[in-house]
Amino acid sequence: MEACFLCPRKCGADRSIQHGLCGAEALPLVAKIMLHQWEEPFISGTRGSGTVFFSGCNLGCVFCQNHTIRDGGIGDVYDADALAAAYLALQQQGAHNINLVTAAPYVTDVVQSLRLAKAQGLTIPIVYNSSGYECAEAIRSLEGLVDIYLPDWKYVSPLLSKKFSNAADYAEVASAAISEMHRQVGDLVLDEDGLATRGLVIRHLILPGCADDSRKVLDEIVNRLPAATHVSLMSQYTPQVYTTEFPLNRRITQREYDRVISYALSVGLHNILIQERDSAQSLYTPQFTKPIKI
Ligand code: SF4
Repeated sequence: MEACFLCPRKCGADRSIQHGLCGAEALPLVAKIMLHQWEEPFISGTRGSGTVFFSGCNLGCVFCQNHTIRDGGIGDVYDADALAAAYLALQQQGAHNINLVTAAPYVTDVVQSLRLAKAQGLTIPIVYNSSGYECAEAIRSLEGLVDIYLPDWKYVSPLLSKKFSNAADYAEVASAAISEMHRQVGDLVLDEDGLATRGLVIRHLILPGCADDSRKVLDEIVNRLPAATHVSLMSQYTPQVYTTEFPLNRRITQREYDRVISYALSVGLHNILIQERDSAQSLYTPQFTKPIKI
């Protein structure tokens, strides 16, 4: 393997001999494969979303709810053949879709695996579930292979993105990547059962004390994308034992959440997905202590 410049970190690691900044080694490491019931209803449906959690992350937020796998090192090695077989097994189990979580460090292998699986009969939609911190060029390599993009748009403020994700350039990078995603798949399309078949859904996790930046994220969305863009406003932020620093040491308030929802509607976004605030529980965060191989 040569120096890796796959993601905006462009750290140049030779992953055949060392970890990248994302924690990834040469081949994909998969922490968990499961039928996920707690994604948005149009993703999880009744039978679950066939979710592949990749180990390692090129963004590495301090508040990550999947922190046990964020730094890599947990899971089993899956080459492109093994990934393709896993997708097909999930389809066989009834998954509504294949949901690739934090695949950015492995996008080359993912492209190969999707081509293999589709040639072997994979027909369910492919969901690319991303932090938003992706090179637009990498997203272009997924064109025709991914049906649904599910990126985060976390921040506009470079101060916040630097402080919480060590990525002062997050907003400009995510904006370019998400525009490319929308160019490929357009707005969200649901089938007669209310399940997603194609399109873009942006997730925004509201952080405590950061509602001003949430409003700026919504401004960016309406400035760059159609008002019909689906935006999932997530209230589930839960302080972890390692997030003791201000302002991340509490859940968001109902007032903070309601004000962000009202603002989204006021700027013309009309496909807003909201959560019950009791979703702010670790119950909905998969545990990664026992990797499952299928
Ligand atoms: S994907 Fe990982 S190894 Fe490659 S540039 Fe990004 S951080 Fe570095």
